[in-house]
Amino acid sequence: MDFEKLRATMVEKQLKERDIADFRVLDVMGRVPRHEFVPPEIRHLAYRDGALPIGHNQTISQPYVVALMLQALHLSGHEIVLEIGTGSGYQTALLCEMAAHVYSLERNNDLAEHAAARLAQLGYENVEIYVGDGSQGLADMSPYDAIIVSASVPSVPGPLRAQLRQNGRLIIPVGTRNQQHLEIVRRDYDRWDTERLIPVRFVPLIGRYGFDE
Ligand code: SAM
Repeated sequence: MDFEKLRATMVEKQLKERDIADFRVLDVMGRVPRHEFVPPEIRHLAYRDGALPIGHNQTISQPYVVALMLQALHLSGHEIVLEIGTGSGYQTALLCEMAAHVYSLERNNDLAEHAAARLAQLGYENVEIYVGDGSQGLADMSPYDAIIVSASVPSVPGPLRAQLRQNGRLIIPVGTRNQQHLEIVRRDYDRWDTERLIPVRFVPLIGRYGFDE
């Protein structure tokens, strides 16, 4: 299959023809091989306009939603980023291309190991993957310029807000188990301003400040 062509079509049809205009997001999504991050038997579906299963009842998010979340973070290349929910490692690879350093937290040991191996194989070195409850963030390495959460929560976890740097941005799906909205939270000293973006449906963030198992 001509994955390069499929990827270029994904960028044109699913991203540019919607509202993705950030040049860096379009560029990186045109380069990172999404098909390397999905199970071999569904590789031919990697550039479809939707989420796909990656095992352990988890999914790799729809390309458009990934692009929208990255665009909302306004990354310039100098940022220290915390990602919650490594999953396949696809979004982690995009973040590695767009920021200075990425800390990524995954609850599932097997997914974390596979993602780490795949990222190393593709040559990404500015990333550290940890296994743990991402709803509590990663206080030791904080503060972060940006935090991206790719699993849903009932409300924004306090530790994640606290681990944002001044002027930092957090993007996260907030709502019930079945329906959420993407929210972008910006920190201004001791104020956190929230803007609601589109309705989405993510798998739940299972943890202390997320949903119960
Ligand atoms: N961004 C990922 C990708 O590109 O493949 C997809 C992430 S998937 C939608 C959500 C991930 O969040 C799953 O891998 C799941 O195991 C993980 N997760 C759920 N609860 C978590 C928690 N408390 N801490 C860290 N990861 C968690």
